[in-house]
Amino acid sequence: MSDENMKMPKFSEIEYVRPSVEQFRECAMSTRLKLMAAREADAAEAAIMAFQREMSAFDTAYTICMIRHDLDTSDQFWNDEMDFFDENYPVISDLSATVYTALLHSEIRPELEEKFGEMIFRKTQNQREIVNSEVLEDLAEESSLENDYSQILSEADIVFKGTHHTISTMTPFLESTDREERKKAHKAVSDYYAGQKAKFDEIYDNMVRIRTRIAHKLGFSDFVGLGYKRMERYDYDPAKVKEFRDNVVKYIVPITSEIRRLQKNRLDLDKLLYYDLPCLFVHGNPTPIIPEKDYFETGSRMFAKMFDKEPSFFQVLGEHDFMDLFSRQNKATGGYCASLLDYGIPYILMNANHTADDIATMVHESGHAYAALRSIDSSQFIECLSPTLEACEIHSTAMEYMTYPYMEMFFGDNADAYRQQHMTLAILFLPYGCLVDEYQHVVYSNPDMTPEERHAAWRELEKKYQPDIDYDGDEFYEKGGAWMKKEHIFTSPFYYIDYCLAQVCALQIWSISRKNRKKAMTIYEHLCAAGGTRTLIDLVESAGLESPFSLDVMKKIAYQVCDYLDL
Ligand code: ZN
Repeated sequence: MSDENMKMPKFSEIEYVRPSVEQFRECAMSTRLKLMAAREADAAEAAIMAFQREMSAFDTAYTICMIRHDLDTSDQFWNDEMDFFDENYPVISDLSATVYTALLHSEIRPELEEKFGEMIFRKTQNQREIVNSEVLEDLAEESSLENDYSQILSEADIVFKGTHHTISTMTPFLESTDREERKKAHKAVSDYYAGQKAKFDEIYDNMVRIRTRIAHKLGFSDFVGLGYKRMERYDYDPAKVKEFRDNVVKYIVPITSEIRRLQKNRLDLDKLLYYDLPCLFVHGNPTPIIPEKDYFETGSRMFAKMFDKEPSFFQVLGEHDFMDLFSRQNKATGGYCASLLDYGIPYILMNANHTADDIATMVHESGHAYAALRSIDSSQFIECLSPTLEACEIHSTAMEYMTYPYMEMFFGDNADAYRQQHMTLAILFLPYGCLVDEYQHVVYSNPDMTPEERHAAWRELEKKYQPDIDYDGDEFYEKGGAWMKKEHIFTSPFYYIDYCLAQVCALQIWSISRKNRKKAMTIYEHLCAAGGTRTLIDLVESAGLESPFSLDVMKKIAYQVCDYLDL
């Protein structure tokens, strides 16, 4: 990027023009005809590349619009533009599908596969298997149920200590060092979900029914197969994922029991109850020692040191307004990294609020940003610039570990506490992630279960993955209601295991970095630079890591983590 510095625009100065659907349609139609007529690879390439430019322009306009909308959700102009994209994106996808179908059926397909690589063909084929005109209405119904769920959640109003709260603003109370306070906070959240139980049960029941119907129409025996296709799982199946979960039960769950035992001793409790779990330290979780306004400057220095490059990619992005780090009114919540394809530049949005999580999030999103920059030339197809989602999460999660040695810059003497907490949370997460995953396999393999049977199934699985959880008689949780707190179960079926697979790959990089930092950096660079040209296991192995499904890997990681956390 440094050579291009002179030309790099500021995000705030990029002009936005609403893209023309008609122009897109014309380009798609003419590309389709040219592809069908092409007898030489060069002619086909010229046609598909012109279409790629059209798609890139459309997507770039959408991304600019989404970011500007998220920076000020009260601005009516961006709200209207978002409505335009919501309405027209399905049209664009449909037009793109017709172009790619022509590519799949090209008479000179072998030559084109040779020229373009097979990934774009695999992706296109996959796309054709997960949607057709017979399921469009069902898909609309599915997404409307997802909106219903999100809408109810965003309206959550929990009155706690005389103030109205959302679910996310309850978090500090759930982690409070004052036991009585956190007990009451957890009760307030449980009461909220218990109050919504009937509504959420009905929504989920309908979701399971519709997703199963879509799967049947597309020729799958149940939604599990379709769910895997939607997640673009090219080189592993439910049996492999089951092995992974079994490995977690065998090697990671015992570590979490030890973590909980030590936590109970640290907090000096007779019994560790469910509302004690988020409070890991007597004095609370470590917070950054620098003020929020210094995050950018410190982050810039850290990444310059880490990659031995001045100015760092992080500094260049920030100086060109390609990040917005702090929480404020009328800004969308959460954090993400999104790429402006026409410019080849990623944008980082997050909501710092002076907690340890700020730094983990900043580093995580920077990992996505670094990968986006590193992979810019990895493919001529925008669809193949970034890999499938679990692989993207390796870029970001590994960055959290690779920045461990620099955490003194943010946490001073508390850096060790930060690292210990970060690693502890990562390990506690693995069984939980597997629990969420197995639950969905049970639900979609048995689509006729009643809501009560689903709750009972969750409670049984909890005992396997979280054997130490004690709900202290809370009726909602005892009956298996805790799954309702996980948004992904409703809105992103089968996504959750991705975080676990990425975590195990990132932990391998961390483990290598303990002995050989240079080697770990080389692996990291390789993973990022490969972009989306390979499938998960192929990518991971080509970088010099082992498959996350390997029993051996899980054993090694368990051993290293015990050593690191002194268990
Ligand atoms: Zn991420």
